[in-house]
Amino acid sequence: MICNNLSVNENGHLTFAGRDTVELAEKYGTPLMLLDEGKIREKMSIYRGAMQKYFTPDSMPLYASKALSFKYIYKIAASENIGIDCVSAGEIFTAYKAGFPLERAYFHGNSKTDDEIRFAIEHDVGHFVCDSVEEVSAVDEIAGQLGVRQKILLRITPGIDPHTHKKISTGSVDSKFGVAIETHQAYELVESTLKLANVELTGFHCHIGSQIFEYDPFGDAARIMLGFIKDVREMYGFEAAQLNLGGGMAVRYTEDDPEIDYEANIRAIARMIQELCDEYGVKMPQILMEPGRSIVADAGMTLYTAGYLKEITGLKNYISIDGGMTDNPRFTLYQSPYTVVLANRANEPCDYKCTVAGRCCESGDIIQEDVMMPKPHRHDTIAVLTTGAYNYAMASHYNKVPKPEVVMIKDGEDFTVIKRETFESMISNEV
Ligand SMILES: *Cc1c(COP(=O)(O)O)cnc(C)c1O
Repeated sequence: MICNNLSVNENGHLTFAGRDTVELAEKYGTPLMLLDEGKIREKMSIYRGAMQKYFTPDSMPLYASKALSFKYIYKIAASENIGIDCVSAGEIFTAYKAGFPLERAYFHGNSKTDDEIRFAIEHDVGHFVCDSVEEVSAVDEIAGQLGVRQKILLRITPGIDPHTHKKISTGSVDSKFGVAIETHQAYELVESTLKLANVELTGFHCHIGSQIFEYDPFGDAARIMLGFIKDVREMYGFEAAQLNLGGGMAVRYTEDDPEIDYEANIRAIARMIQELCDEYGVKMPQILMEPGRSIVADAGMTLYTAGYLKEITGLKNYISIDGGMTDNPRFTLYQSPYTVVLANRANEPCDYKCTVAGRCCESGDIIQEDVMMPKPHRHDTIAVLTTGAYNYAMASHYNKVPKPEVVMIKDGEDFTVIKRETFESMISNEV
């Protein structure tokens, strides 16, 4: 199996985090998202431990909470002593309601509104990651009104394309995010920021993309960013205390993907950073990283109930399910690969090819194309693995489909962390 929290039990049922998925589907109904708290904590602590060991003792992962944002996960992040990355006042509010210490929050986004800036400052968010000249001056102005000197990082575009999907690559010069070194605008931004009274520049941020398997793109980004830090020190006498390398480490979605050793990657990145710091004569800054996908993706899976099998003679077979792009739009958006398992007959030979089709009125509502599985029947339980990241977080009410229930498994016990939506709760804002 693609992750060590998966197995098959004596009934031939797929298990997840030690629990029988077919039993859980019966208990809670489908579509159902399952999460493995042990796996979430394991990933957070791998990052935290490796970063403190190989970078500096105060280095820290920030969970990129856009990957999956709900109250309970902020409680886990708080108790694992890591920070968080938020991209909206909504995420900050959710973390606040969970009691997360917001001095360890970093507020991202290329389009923060005045209300959001004010909300974040009033809730003592530790750092902003500012994305443009205009945003820095907006933060300066609002911080001034509130009598606060707000710590900020500047998001810099290092000019790197890490060869992932275009929509999930963000480090190149023409990206909508950040300010480019190549056009010299990054230097101008530093110069103007240092003149402002109500913002305190603490360092720089970059994020090159997502689902990156190798560590060298991070090394490349670090080389460019440390060169920038050195130049900025020479030009303006400003020494960056923080360097945030963003998120993007990959996750294994299918057997074709290699296994990933996160600790070894961090060690390799740290070695490159140490060499560069020595070469450039700069002190190693506090390093931050923002893993999202690699914290939650394989800590999650989705269970569906099979609907109808449509065999188009000589062409293609479709098995329909009781969910789809409303709970997992990633195949529709990016043709993302997933591993699909017939959970109630997980030991039977996978000798039948079919496409798993969602229930929405869109031909593009597909979960995965041409999957090999035992021939599915109505009411079988279909598991889609590695759905923890960017699934529920991107869920919608298209076709008025209620969002699924999310159930956490911790030490073998199951409990609801997000209730299933009802028709009533779904229309509760409608007048
Ligand atoms: C999306 C994003 C992340 C998280 O990326 P993953 O690939 O999920 O690790 C981190 N930082 C920023 C700025 C992002 O936009």
